[in-house]
Amino acid sequence: MSLSIDPVFHSADAASPRIEDHHGLDRWRELAPKQQPTYLDEAEVERVRSELSSVPPLIFAGEADLLKKRIADASRGEAFLLAGGDCAETFADATADKIRNRVRTVLQMAAVLTYGASMPVVKMGRMAGQFAKPRSSDEETRDGVTLPSYRGDIVNEHAFTPEARAHDPRRLLQAYHVSSSTLNLIRAFTQGGFADLRLVHEWNRGFLANNPNYHRYEQLAKEIDRALKFMDACGVDFEALRSVEFFAAHEALLLEYERALTRIDSRTGKPYDVSGHYLWIGERTRDIDGAHVDFLSRVSNPIGIKLGPNADPDTVLRLAEKLDPEGEPGRLSFITRMGAGVIRDRLPELLRTVAPQLPHVAWVCDPMHGNTITSATGYKTRRFEDVMDEVTGFFESHREAGTVPAGLHVELTGDDVTEVLGGSNEIDEEGLRRRYLTLVDPRLNHDQSLEMAFLVAEQLSA
Ligand code: PEP
Ligand code: MN
Repeated sequence: MSLSIDPVFHSADAASPRIEDHHGLDRWRELAPKQQPTYLDEAEVERVRSELSSVPPLIFAGEADLLKKRIADASRGEAFLLAGGDCAETFADATADKIRNRVRTVLQMAAVLTYGASMPVVKMGRMAGQFAKPRSSDEETRDGVTLPSYRGDIVNEHAFTPEARAHDPRRLLQAYHVSSSTLNLIRAFTQGGFADLRLVHEWNRGFLANNPNYHRYEQLAKEIDRALKFMDACGVDFEALRSVEFFAAHEALLLEYERALTRIDSRTGKPYDVSGHYLWIGERTRDIDGAHVDFLSRVSNPIGIKLGPNADPDTVLRLAEKLDPEGEPGRLSFITRMGAGVIRDRLPELLRTVAPQLPHVAWVCDPMHGNTITSATGYKTRRFEDVMDEVTGFFESHREAGTVPAGLHVELTGDDVTEVLGGSNEIDEEGLRRRYLTLVDPRLNHDQSLEMAFLVAEQLSA
């Protein structure tokens, strides 16, 4: 991330809603926003809103603009966007080790893609703000006891007690502070030398050598090493390898939080949501006349919209018109999450009808959310083969339509969890019991993430 960016913002007056709302940043309040918490103490909400309105920004507007340029490159097939991270980050897991492991997994995947497909990779984490979850049910019942659903650490706690499940506005502040320390560490890792491609071997240290994906990665790392040594001998300046750009993304679900963290950029006079570089609208909250689409249409960050199997061309075109009326390159990405079983039916038609009218929009594959199942042993899981099949279907659909597959958006963790069935370690339904740690959706583990990167590299260079 470039450091020569003007960090000055003006308050966007979230603390004083009576002040005239020139940018319409509070219009969403009239649009019955879905999936919001229910707070009982309005005075406390007001205090939190006021405090969040004056905290320093987590990102700068110039960085968000830079990301738009990078996504625009991806939309033209000149780069590939790789977004990865937890379904839901938790406050407890914002530790140095876990953050490092996730960043490292994305870096390793990016190395595979960059080398395997000779393509610059735009690196993004579902990190430093991915704390709010949409839920299909407001309540959860266990052994005859019904409590509010867990909605992510920014809203309530996962423990199944009435106190833990109560919606607490002070968690909005905690989410900001945890995002801030997470992003600080990400910036240190990616600016301070840890992400230097010359450490491509180092990143793999400690993983089992008898695993086929690590073996394959080691081979690739050796080739990268040889290429780097050759370039070194030729006198190439490696200073640029020391730091990498790494962007933070999350679902913009809690509009009170996103609104309070919106500032007016002093350079352009435009509002930016400074809670993260990239924000997306989920499948459940993307109604064309809804609050989320309205709010995100008014901030200038790069944004994504999830598109499930029922997204029809007309709705998709209207969403683009509302969120990106000027057709700004890199502003909008469609993150398709169709399901392995239907992607080859649904996506080609969408691409044929929509893509020619929206050539500047980046198409990204989320192979996770259309492939969620419940195992016979009761776990929410996914089959690795389905996830891989959706990725293959995504590339096939783009080849068929003559459009650009611009990116991949996955749920992963750098740790050795057993949440997704299959992969080279052949995790089976019993195996899920071993290290099933996610609080919401199942994530690829480190090894499955690398295997996915090899598949994508093959598809990209096919
Ligand atoms: C998610 O990305 O975690 C999510 C909830 O996705 P979707 O909105 O596509 O269901
Ligand atoms: Mn998820």
